[in-house]
Order: sequence, then C-alpha cells, then structure tokens
Amino acid sequence: MVVILFGAPGVGKGTQAEILSQKLNFGHVSTGAAFRHAIANETPIGKIAAQYVAAGKLVPDEVVARIVEETLVRPEFSKGCILDGFPRTRVQAESLDAILLSLKREIHSVVNIKVDNSEIVKRLLARGRSDDSVEIIEYRMDVYNNETQPLLDYYASRGILFNVNGLGTVDEVSSRILTVLRIRGIPVVAL
Ligand code: AMP
Repeated sequence: MVVILFGAPGVGKGTQAEILSQKLNFGHVSTGAAFRHAIANETPIGKIAAQYVAAGKLVPDEVVARIVEETLVRPEFSKGCILDGFPRTRVQAESLDAILLSLKREIHSVVNIKVDNSEIVKRLLARGRSDDSVEIIEYRMDVYNNETQPLLDYYASRGILFNVNGLGTVDEVSSRILTVLRIRGIPVVAL
C-alpha cells in the first residue's frame, strides 16, 4: 500500500510522514531527505542534486525516478510506504505509476495537507534549513504552484485524493490524517 503525502513546502509533510510511518508500520520515503543525504555523502546523485537543492529548483525527473525506484524495491517498503515530497511533476507521477505497476502495487490514497500561504512562509523561516531563505522559499512556492499543484487534479480524477486541514498542532493534524486513512481501511497498528 502506498500513501502519498502531498502539499506545499512547509505544510509539515516530513513531520507527519515520520509519525504516520510509526503508527501504520510503513516505510517513509522522503526524496528531499534522500537528496540531502546523498549531497552530504557526495555520492554521484548527490553531486548532480546539490546545485538544484541549494537553489530550490526541482532535481531533474530522471534522477528523482532513479532514487525512488532504487528505494521502493527494497523489502522494508513492500508492506507499505509513505511518499513525502514525491511526485512533484506530471512526469514523476507517471513514472511512479509505471514503477508501481511493475511491482504490482498501487497508490492507496493521496493526502493533501492544506495550509495558508502566510502561515507556510512563517513556518519555513522558523525551520531555518539552508534552502529556507525568503527568496528561495518564494521560488519553491512558485515551483509548487506551477509544477506540483496541478497533480491534485490527476489524483482527484481517480477518486483517491483527500484534503486535510494542516493548521493546528502536530497531533491534531496527524489524527486528522489517521482518521482519513482508517476510514479508507488502513489498519493503525500503534496508538
Ligand atoms: P523537500 O525536503 O521535500 O522540501 O525537498 C528539498 C529539495 O529537494 C527540493 O527543493 C528539491 O530541490 C529537491 N527535491 C525533493 N524532492 C524532489 C522531487 N520529487 N523532484 C525534484 N526535486 C526534489
């Protein structure tokens, strides 16, 4: 079972994915974290990704697909996994469909975490990551609006898109997400 956590930068996808992966006993795949790790370790993928991540630009689709495919075939992700920060473009969404088809798996639900723009900027500035300066945040929001947000229609048309209010405490938001997933039939293993 694959659950996609969707939303603009700063809505709390990473935090929520971490909590959900424990509650559902699913693997957590964060492409952003995978790139930061690859960059820190100066791997071949890290060397390609570094300039894009620093500028808040999307890493080219074929590089992203490679890192996702290498991850999803690993046994710890066979039962279930939460995708955080992927897909971000139509091409990535289509390559995810192809990867899952070859693995005989499918997207169970796409959970869209919704937070107002002004709140998002506040949260990102408070986070203080090196790609969280005002300029780069604005750039990443534009990229999200132009490239990523249109995917909501792609998933809504399949009937697997669910919106969740991302305002409130971390616990409030995770219990909203868990409620959606429980209603959709995913067992919650930890309280
Ligand atoms: P995140 O941790 O999800 O905010 O991602 C941090 C940065 O990693 C992004 O600004 C991009 O440069 C890169 N990145 C992460 N996921 C993707 C993706 N699916 N496609 C392209 N670039 C990505």
